[in-house]
Amino acid sequence: MNKETKITSTVDFSKNGKYFGYLIIPHSTNDSGWGSLHMPIISIRNGNGSVAVFTGGNHGDEYEGTIGLMNIARSLDENSINGQVIIIPALNFSAFMAGDRVSPIDGLNMNRVFPGKRDGTITSMIAHYLTTTIIPLADVFVDIHSGGKSMMFSPFATYQNVPNIGVNEKAKEAALTFAAPKCLEIIELDPDGMLDTTVANMGKVFVGTELGGGGTSTTETISIAKRGILNILALFNITNEKPKTREEIGLEPVKLLQMPNPKSFTFSVESGIYEPLLDLDSTVKIGDKLGQIHFPTNPQLDPIVLKAEIEGILIGRAHKALVRPGDFLALVGEEIN
Ligand code: ZN
Repeated sequence: MNKETKITSTVDFSKNGKYFGYLIIPHSTNDSGWGSLHMPIISIRNGNGSVAVFTGGNHGDEYEGTIGLMNIARSLDENSINGQVIIIPALNFSAFMAGDRVSPIDGLNMNRVFPGKRDGTITSMIAHYLTTTIIPLADVFVDIHSGGKSMMFSPFATYQNVPNIGVNEKAKEAALTFAAPKCLEIIELDPDGMLDTTVANMGKVFVGTELGGGGTSTTETISIAKRGILNILALFNITNEKPKTREEIGLEPVKLLQMPNPKSFTFSVESGIYEPLLDLDSTVKIGDKLGQIHFPTNPQLDPIVLKAEIEGILIGRAHKALVRPGDFLALVGEEIN
């Protein structure tokens, strides 16, 4: 038993075989005095090959990871793999069950509390369990996100350009192999507290995604998630298959993008109704109008126009219409040739 964490697992990660179990997280409430939260975790292991860890539902209103991972967990044959696959389908489980981005129990965003605290609130305890118990097992860690209820993305996988570390070339290869339509090199705006940075700082390969959004999923975004998961397993020789490129399945090749600076992001400066003036995947030049904010309490006022500050492709936008100052409105990725 790991004395460093208060969370226990019904799954023994050192055992060969396929196990659907739970993490038991102490959670004493008015309704359940000696109760705990049971959060699903799956281990599929055969021998001592590479270990791939996959998480969905880091934010509770993002669905491609959870759906793709549950499908693959059920269908993967433990005898046909070499190594181990550890899956947490819904990482911020209480947020996921509420259909919200952050946990209703402590109000925390899972991707801002890493490395977590042993004695923290529930979200922080889960982060601490990953940091102390799961990430050390991993050769590759894939965290599958999408835009949630408030954002929409043109599907992309990501690898990081980490402050003071730079790009991990294996992570770049893995992100490209995920075979989403786009692959983005990201410089995190606010790297502290993120799972991404914690994994990278522990010297492991990290791949992220943003596969869609709007608090739902589509057949296309789920199929991207499934192909990506299978390709990562193939790349790390956990399955005996070869990763399938997009060209091999009759699709456009992966487009490589980067975010050279914070100008890639556009945030709201006013409260009002956001009218997008460009759809996702539009090519934009500096000065192009991305959208405008209307003032419903003062219809005579001209809307405020938001313009692109870098050239590239519109790959993310606000999904909600009512916006406030500081809300995310648009993301432009610059093409890497
Ligand atoms: Zn997310």
